[in-house]
Amino acid sequence: MEHKNFKNIDKVTYGRGSFSQLGQTIEPIRQTHNRYFVYIVDQYFKGKDLANRLQNKPEDLVYFIDVDPYEPTTEQVDSLRDEIISKKGVPSGVIGIGGGSIMDIAKALSLMLTNEGSSTLYQGLNLVKKPGIYHLGVPTISGTGAEVSMTAVLTGPEKKLGLKCDWTVFNQVILDPELIASVPRDWWFYTGMDTYIHCIESENGIRNNAFSLAYGEQSLKLCREVYLGDKAGQTSENDDKLMVASLMGGLSLTYSEVGVCHALSYGLSKIHGTRHCYANCVIFQHLGDIYPQGHREFMRMIDKHGISLPQHLSKDWDDATLTAMATVSINLPFMWHHAFGDDWQKKVNLDYIKGLFKRL
Ligand code: NAD
Ligand code: ZN
Repeated sequence: MEHKNFKNIDKVTYGRGSFSQLGQTIEPIRQTHNRYFVYIVDQYFKGKDLANRLQNKPEDLVYFIDVDPYEPTTEQVDSLRDEIISKKGVPSGVIGIGGGSIMDIAKALSLMLTNEGSSTLYQGLNLVKKPGIYHLGVPTISGTGAEVSMTAVLTGPEKKLGLKCDWTVFNQVILDPELIASVPRDWWFYTGMDTYIHCIESENGIRNNAFSLAYGEQSLKLCREVYLGDKAGQTSENDDKLMVASLMGGLSLTYSEVGVCHALSYGLSKIHGTRHCYANCVIFQHLGDIYPQGHREFMRMIDKHGISLPQHLSKDWDDATLTAMATVSINLPFMWHHAFGDDWQKKVNLDYIKGLFKRL
């Protein structure tokens, strides 16, 4: 098995109020390219206090982007890139302020500002030709690990796949737990559960190792405090923890791999447009035989927070739909290999995966 060689974030600032250091952090970078920054900010913050604290200069471009109801697309990133280049040329850097969707747009945009053609050309591993420009991420919702991952997931006309390479990783991340306080309770749960599931899947498979486990165990400990402990709930103390759990969960899966839930989740999202974190929750409730311990704990968290997940979705799916979903999932062989080992193909085929989808 080849050992992974992982590019980490260059720099991280962590702590309550650290967002106020954004201006001073990017100042030295302002000397590069055309000496201005592009801000990509979740539309949610338009008119909110944060929008007055961006520390932008008059020459900077600020875009508020609506991430609902669709996940980021290749077309969206391409047209944003074209508009920016035609307005002011290559910027000094891109700053993304928002959830996983905005993190991915900022990461992809940074690459597409220096690489010609459509982003569809670069969906996959190491297809990007030139380093992107400086990019900085400020997560405002915690769980996906997009702030630390090597990929920028985009939905294109043909595939939902990340632009994955060393240059995708942020140069700088600012983790300010104050920014996640306003996350609606249901998203707080679903997106946090993405972290939990990352860790359970990372641990339960052949790619698990002491390195991924160290991050995964610590992340799980924090998740348990946030969602199950005596002081469980959406409090500022727990937001401090969740932000770190998300980062560590992302590092855990990077050194290991995700598994069955994520493989199924891609199939569900691609065919039905279900959002990533929510899709994982919808699926994980049915994986008690594959991840017994994690599943038990997950169901306790569902119960404790009064979350209700949809049931009997599959009654509306005909065989062609199930086949389409299963085809997306089986094309993630590294996840199945991690989950079931070298002879995974003896167990996993289209019919097996369709059977898992029928549980939904
Ligand atoms: P999101 O970015 O899609 O946002 C979810 C909702 O929360 C939106 O309505 C948004 O406006 C709102 N929101 C964000 N911050 C808020 C705040 N502080 N207060 C109030 N509302 C806020 O959510 P997400 O779950 O973080 O990200 C999902 C996306 O991440 C998907 O597109 C998925 O493909 C991607 N993803 C990427 C990776 C990766 O490694 N690159 C990993 C997993 C998922
Ligand atoms: Zn995930």
